Amino acid sequence: MPNATVCLTYDFDAVSVWIHTFGASNAPTQLSRGIYGAWVGAPRLLDLHDKHDIPATWFVPGHTIESFPDRVGEVHDRGYDIQCHGWRHVNPATFDGKEAEQSEYERAISNIEDVTGRKPTGFRSPAWEFSEHTLEIIEELGFEWDSSQMGNDFAPYHLRKNWKAPDSDPFELGDSTDIIEVPISWKRADFPALMFVWEQSILWGYANERAVFDLWKTQFDWMYENVEDGIFTLAMHPQVIGQPPRTRRLEELIQHMQTKPGVEFAGVDTVVTEIRDGEREVFDVMGT
Ligand SMILES: [Zn+2]
Repeated sequence: MPNATVCLTYDFDAVSVWIHTFGASNAPTQLSRGIYGAWVGAPRLLDLHDKHDIPATWFVPGHTIESFPDRVGEVHDRGYDIQCHGWRHVNPATFDGKEAEQSEYERAISNIEDVTGRKPTGFRSPAWEFSEHTLEIIEELGFEWDSSQMGNDFAPYHLRKNWKAPDSDPFELGDSTDIIEVPISWKRADFPALMFVWEQSILWGYANERAVFDLWKTQFDWMYENVEDGIFTLAMHPQVIGQPPRTRRLEELIQHMQTKPGVEFAGVDTVVTEIRDGEREVFDVMGT
């Protein structure tokens, strides 16, 4: 078992985030930012990963697969894992009921099967949020793991259902499920810090780029020194991290990680397989 594992993940939203999240279906310049992700950002990242021979997990909405089939096919053909990121890039809470949500994920699964020849095992919510039905749906659809939540930083854990968050009574944690969560963080992501979105006053996108990469490096170093068998999951977007000179900064971060003994780069699915095989521990939730 390595001392530390790094999972580099890419949410390949392309134009879907502009159409379905930011409502810009009639705004060609906004849409072109997503096209940039498919045309320019994605190949740069594939080249970077090829150069260093390190795995990656690509979460791809069905919308991106149907819109840019050649580029998504290239991601698969070059050896990178493709997992589910919904079909439309919407917050699951906005679906009109369980059936509507489930049918979109079924379409997304079918898209991925067409590209890879197998069902995806992992799910990342497009909004990094669940509806009241999402967990039940992904269980029923046979997913083994999720990477959307933030209940830990560097340790995987089991998602829980039947939790309750009433206004005036204590929070109830609910019951453990078989779905393994490999957690993410808004602070180990590129979009909030580096992507300007005109309509969203919270997304200025003008963070000091060096500071963002320094933060990721410092977090990785802290995990390496303090967490046994920690998993450092970085969530990025080709249309954001693919912009210059960010791929070079990402490469510098990768090279820094590679200087540490016992660091391994892995796909998220590989990490989950190791958990299922008993080679890795999950976080032991206390107080249940
Ligand atoms: Zn996304």
